[in-house]
Amino acid sequence: MTPLLSVRSLTKRYGARIGCADVSFDLWPGEVLGIVGESGSGKSTLLNCLAGHQAPDAGQVLFDTRAEGPRDTVTMSEPERRMLGRTDWAFVHQHARDGLRMGVSAGGNVGERLMSVGARHYGDIRAAAADWLGRVEIDTGRIDDRPTQFSGGMQQRLQIARNLVSGPRLVFMDEPTGGLDVSVQARLLDLLRGLVRDMGLSAIVVTHDLAVVRLLAHRLMVMKDGHVVETGLTDQVLDDPQHAYTQLLVSSVLQV
Ligand code: ADP
Ligand code: MG
Repeated sequence: MTPLLSVRSLTKRYGARIGCADVSFDLWPGEVLGIVGESGSGKSTLLNCLAGHQAPDAGQVLFDTRAEGPRDTVTMSEPERRMLGRTDWAFVHQHARDGLRMGVSAGGNVGERLMSVGARHYGDIRAAAADWLGRVEIDTGRIDDRPTQFSGGMQQRLQIARNLVSGPRLVFMDEPTGGLDVSVQARLLDLLRGLVRDMGLSAIVVTHDLAVVRLLAHRLMVMKDGHVVETGLTDQVLDDPQHAYTQLLVSSVLQV
């Protein structure tokens, strides 16, 4: 089997400051990888380099494309990368406003994504949008409402619908439950877990919240100062952390 994503020595600096350094890993089809670490450890930088939102200074990101097998997305042309972004990848932002068009109706937000991959028939698009609103537990009667009229949790669920409707093969998530009330977080996590399982999604989830990866991720990567300090199966890393920094990370959560 070929990894869906094969990352080799990925490095990104901001001047003298390290964003992420020498990161390597494989992501297998159907696998959910969690990336944890405290604020400033390089999680977002890494995710943005993987998703083609930022250009790394060095390293390779080999993505197993449908047509040609593994291709380095770092060196491919911008239009090719943008196309993959529409057809194969999805990106769930921490703040729904970064991943939604706030001036467009809920149905339009979902439908727009379908149109970007070639859907043309209005009735089909509207039916698919209504179906997806239901799947993310948004009343389909609100299909013509704008996200500005939605609560934070609903906006985040709409962003997830917009991202998954096109059937991506790899989903990037940056703090998908960050900034939401605790009760809303739990419901969103449940929903995400169900979708990931039912769709057999491959995903990379960045978070500082270990409860998120405990529920979602098969495997964990722990980052500190841009470097990966520990990697392993989620339960193994959380229950028996080997690196001193991971022990600190885990214990500080257990104390709260
Ligand atoms: P995390 O997502 O884990 O909080 P980031 O990837 O945002 O970490 O940041 C990693 C490091 O890179 C931090 O030291 C941060 O200050 C720095 N950094 C991130 N983005 C920029 C930027 N645009 N310009 C300069 N430094 C940045
Ligand atoms: Mg971040």
